[in-house]
Amino acid sequence: MNKLLKSILPVLLVLSVGACAKPTARPVAEPKAQPEAATASAQPHQRQSVRAEKSMISVANPHAARAGRAILRAGGSAIDAAIAAQMVLNLVEPQSSGIGGGGFLMHFNAKNGDLAAYDGRETAPASATPDMFLNTDGQPLAFFDAVVGGLSVGVPGALRMLEAAHKEHGLLPWAKLFEDAIRLAEGGFTVSERLHKLVAGDRYLKRHRTTAAYFYDDTGAPWPVGHILKNPELAATLRQIATGGADAFYQGPIAQAMVDTVSHGIGNPGGLSLADLSAYKTIKREPACLFYRKWLVCGFGPPSSGGLTTLQILGMLQSFDLGSMKPGKDGLPDVRAVHLISEAARLAFADRNAFIADEDFVAVPSAGMLDPGYLERRAAEISTSRSIGRAAPGTPGGKTSQFAPGTSSLGLSTTHMSIVDANGNAVSMTTSIENAFGSRMMVGGFLLNNQLTDFNFRPTVDGRPVANAAAPGKRPRSSMSPTLVFDNQGRVVLAIGSPGGSRIIGYVVKTLIATLDWEMDIQQAIDMPNFTNRNTPTDLEQGTAIETLADKLKALGQEIRTRPMTSGLHGIHIVDGVLFGGADQRREGVALGD
Ligand code: GLU
Repeated sequence: MNKLLKSILPVLLVLSVGACAKPTARPVAEPKAQPEAATASAQPHQRQSVRAEKSMISVANPHAARAGRAILRAGGSAIDAAIAAQMVLNLVEPQSSGIGGGGFLMHFNAKNGDLAAYDGRETAPASATPDMFLNTDGQPLAFFDAVVGGLSVGVPGALRMLEAAHKEHGLLPWAKLFEDAIRLAEGGFTVSERLHKLVAGDRYLKRHRTTAAYFYDDTGAPWPVGHILKNPELAATLRQIATGGADAFYQGPIAQAMVDTVSHGIGNPGGLSLADLSAYKTIKREPACLFYRKWLVCGFGPPSSGGLTTLQILGMLQSFDLGSMKPGKDGLPDVRAVHLISEAARLAFADRNAFIADEDFVAVPSAGMLDPGYLERRAAEISTSRSIGRAAPGTPGGKTSQFAPGTSSLGLSTTHMSIVDANGNAVSMTTSIENAFGSRMMVGGFLLNNQLTDFNFRPTVDGRPVANAAAPGKRPRSSMSPTLVFDNQGRVVLAIGSPGGSRIIGYVVKTLIATLDWEMDIQQAIDMPNFTNRNTPTDLEQGTAIETLADKLKALGQEIRTRPMTSGLHGIHIVDGVLFGGADQRREGVALGD
């Protein structure tokens, strides 16, 4: 793909359409949109996207959106804007992401058609062992016993990843990208309702003194909504990184402070070392791509399960005419579509849980999993009238999994941003510190991740190894799904992604289908109630109109649960050169463009 993307796409598309796509492709209609930001007062299914001509950022917090837009206005690239926005998110959305965590970044270079996938996922320190999350009786630790403290902290990768991308695609000086975050950290930002609620509801933030002193007042009460919260420690950390580059983080006093903090995790110390930090490397991966009808959809391969699983679901759905199952006036998806998408997701998650882990440690049959013939055979297992119940893994590329099935995480943390700059370059980036507030340990004004609990706690099940078991240097399996979609001219048409643990995959699939197959406005696609299946019962978003589909889905043999589903979808849809941005009202996101 990469450099050749632009030139080979039309040829590949013709081949692909002939080989596997069903003839439902039609021109993309221009969604109706208004120039204003999405209005919170409109009915969820009536809100409209933000429209822009030149550049746009859609991100989880208004402060971060403004910082990103300022960089784009100053002539910065999409990567420059991503770095500025990420530094601000570290401050204003500290529960979700930051330099103490990791992420996955997809970048499209409009000039030469190069598609790059930067893997900034955390690595396990050299001291990690497959049974690190088992107690002395050989039983898995309770989840939060593992999360809170030092044991769960992986070597952070976000900053090295951003630095690598900046070296290749940055236009503005590195230090300039830190100015807004430093100014806001010193001058303070107002505590939002969401941040207040998450702090008030957290049972573990008070365990470590530095963290408690930042998030609560002297009486131990969480800072109220509207309180001006300053973070001079983070400002000092960012100043050092602004002048010294990522080296100022991975070596020297900040690195030492991280090592000391991790080794003093109360009741749960970890073995992160200076050597682990200085050895961290960003890995440029081959993006995972698949033709879906007339589009080429590209996601992030292992160690994320997001790309392969999203693409498998789409690949199977290609056998069905989803275009004829458009939502009605109420904005609710057709029950037949919910059924089919859930069934494809069951089959894809069965493969995910059996096969996907860090491919530098485990052989993942990625090509077999995306083979159109294989996906067509898997799709043939789907019945339009009856759920298959629990799906078994298939044999992609003729391979039978040697592994016992793994598990899936869920969370209120993590963040996704989509950016398009004035030159047409695009960024789709998801970053995370895993659980909300990560390990709950703070150093230098930022929170340390708990990403190692994304490994499976049990290294073996019934005597069979688990693919996603911990090992030194290994990257835990993720579900993060930063996605870019291209048309048959090799032009980017959509950037999308979300937080939400393993439900990310379902959120992204819903939005892709709503935007591509149903030609919905991107804001309305995001607002459409969520539904996911992870080879489990089918989950419907609690408190939304989609609950009314429960009985019809049960009649198709679907076991139904209702759950809160706080996605954080942030996307940009490009139609005839016009940018349409959507931001998830379930969190605090906003799209801003020019
Ligand atoms: N740690 C999760 C992953 O990498 C993301 C958690 C979340 O979205 O809250 O898949």
